[in-house]
Amino acid sequence: MHPLNERQQALVDDARRFACEHAGILDPGDDRTANAAQLYRAYARGGYHALLIPEHLGGRGLDYVNTGLVYEALSYHLPATLHGPITTAHCIEMIRIGCQGARREELLSAIASKGLAVGFCLTEEGAGSDIASLSTRAQRSPGGFTITGDKSIVINHAIASLLIVFAAGPARKGRAGLNAFLVDPALLGVRIGKPCETPGFAGNIMGGVAFDGVQVPPDSLLGENDSGYFLLMETLDKGRPLVAASCAGAAKKAFDLVLDHAKNRVQFGKPLFSFQGISLPLAELATRLQASRLLTFDALSRIDGNRTFSLEASMAKLHAADTLLDIASFGVEILGYRAAGASADAREIVRIHQDAQLMKSIDGAANVQKMVIASQL
Ligand SMILES: Cc1cc2nc3c(=O)[nH]c(=O)nc-3n(C[C@H](O)[C@H](O)[C@H](O)COP(=O)(O)OP(=O)(O)OC[C@H]3O[C@@H](n4cnc5c(N)ncnc54)[C@H](O)[C@@H]3O)c2cc1C
Repeated sequence: MHPLNERQQALVDDARRFACEHAGILDPGDDRTANAAQLYRAYARGGYHALLIPEHLGGRGLDYVNTGLVYEALSYHLPATLHGPITTAHCIEMIRIGCQGARREELLSAIASKGLAVGFCLTEEGAGSDIASLSTRAQRSPGGFTITGDKSIVINHAIASLLIVFAAGPARKGRAGLNAFLVDPALLGVRIGKPCETPGFAGNIMGGVAFDGVQVPPDSLLGENDSGYFLLMETLDKGRPLVAASCAGAAKKAFDLVLDHAKNRVQFGKPLFSFQGISLPLAELATRLQASRLLTFDALSRIDGNRTFSLEASMAKLHAADTLLDIASFGVEILGYRAAGASADAREIVRIHQDAQLMKSIDGAANVQKMVIASQL
């Protein structure tokens, strides 16, 4: 990787300062929704929910590589907290692609200036990896469309000011009949479910959202009719290396904590690190961590350079999420009893580990990434 230029170093330093100032925000109280709203507001005050929105619309105007650098730095210093802003970033991309002219400018500048959170409503009980089997339906109505269906898990669900909802047309046409709609969660018929009691994902909120005959105007449709699958693929492909950057940042944090522990913990008269049973796995994990970064920033720079990136994006997500989980698991193992919460460092690794287990499913599970890769070999 190229060394950081002056601007990139400043972005990373700012992110580190921001994260260190907000370290206390991670202490979760009882009210998950209030915590999530507080954390999201903090990220939004720093402009971290709107990194990809152009400056003239109130965003930070970053490209993908620089957004990845910031996500990596934030995820190092405040690991496992960035899911709300990353979900909004996916939705911002969808609006950038699917909306035109004044409507696009109006939405993006509202998200940037008002610090809005957006929810991405795709997954259903019967449609996880197999998105062609969505049962949520959007029917044309005199006033636009009527949306009916249940979404199972939506990050930001209880704090979102805007939802992007995927639905099929009345005739079952699989992927070809999918559409994405902008939905105001305050509309009649939208029911926000109870927050999931998710292990990990500190300070973030997620849960189901039901749509009972929700009436939306015609301009709620994103892109052309039946273009939902294309929009989804483009957005997921662009989002995957950003998730990978966040995995790489959290993985580096876990790695540094584990290495420090291994070098300082003495058993059998020597530091743990002096035993090859400990140092050789760490050497392998350090190599995999470096590979995560290289894959991630290669995919991000391909997006910025208008080159093909779908294959590289899936490779980056697959590798970075696997590596994060393996580093965190190794950390929990060598912390011994401390993993029960005996120290702040141990609690941090356990938190990263809880998150890492779920990161493998987000934005396409591991086997889905492999299917994308295999389809392009
Ligand atoms: C913390 C968290 C937050 C999330 N947030 C959101 C959100 O904001 N919005 C949203 O819409 N969704 C969200 N999701 C859902 C996520 O996108 C799905 O979990 C993912 O798409 C996989 O779907 P599934 O969980 O139903 O798994 P399934 O599709 O049931 O798959 C289960 C397992 O089987 C494997 N598998 C599936 N099909 C095949 C196959 N053909 N061949 C081989 N293996 C296969 C998968 O790799 C996976 O390991 C979130 C998930 C998590 C864990």
